[in-house]
Amino acid sequence: MSTLQEQRERQLRHDAERDAHAAERERLLHPIRSRDALKAIADSAAAKFSDPAVTADDVLAWVADEFGYRTAVACSMADAVLPHVVQKHLPWIDTLFLETGYHFPETEGTRDAVESTMQLTIVDVMPKLTVEEQDATYGKDLFARDPALCCQMRKVEPLAEQLTNYEAWLTGVRRDDSPLRANTPLVEWDDKNGMVKVNPIAAWTFDELLEYASANDVIINPLLHDGYPSIGCAPCTRRVAPGEDPRSGRWAGLDKTECGLHA
Ligand code: SF4
Repeated sequence: MSTLQEQRERQLRHDAERDAHAAERERLLHPIRSRDALKAIADSAAAKFSDPAVTADDVLAWVADEFGYRTAVACSMADAVLPHVVQKHLPWIDTLFLETGYHFPETEGTRDAVESTMQLTIVDVMPKLTVEEQDATYGKDLFARDPALCCQMRKVEPLAEQLTNYEAWLTGVRRDDSPLRANTPLVEWDDKNGMVKVNPIAAWTFDELLEYASANDVIINPLLHDGYPSIGCAPCTRRVAPGEDPRSGRWAGLDKTECGLHA
């Protein structure tokens, strides 16, 4: 077991490497291309990567070449599998974490562990209002009365604003998440955000995700093994029974199944 001193030195080296890479990455950034140019790229790639034999690494090699660091990863910190696959192609890539103010402590712990050990640059994407300011303006526990508005203000709008810095974003959406996601392509045009959306592990099953995590020592949120196959904000996520729809614990009892990020 390493000593506290060794852990501190390792952390300092990790942080220094991240800072050095940030300067280099800034130098490499190209101007963001037009909406039309990006749409043409998305449409062409969607056809090219529609073959079922295409792997996540195939798509990510193309992403690294086409967009470089004008790419961001969205990560809910349910697990770090997608960032782990991505960091091989784009080390220290911006990894966006929607800091809603309502996360489980386990999710915050996963975020901190990922930041301190992986070759990623965590970007906390913040809502305009703190939870206290939102309570004061809209009344306490808006999530229980109007979750669509709460998600809009705490997730959708902050993410859309942050995404203006990139040409492409990577998501961990998988086809087996829910019937609504069953036809998720590996590459698509995101008309709402005017950019390319890439879902490199769309074809993976939940078991394949866990196998990858286990084989590669990837950090996963401990809640994943505690009855939470899908993890969102604490007030809007409950445990699911074995065999239940994995996303049935999200906004349970409400007429809502998605937060609006992937609509
Ligand atoms: Fe609000 Fe719930 Fe949406 Fe989180 S998941 S932003 S708490 S409504």
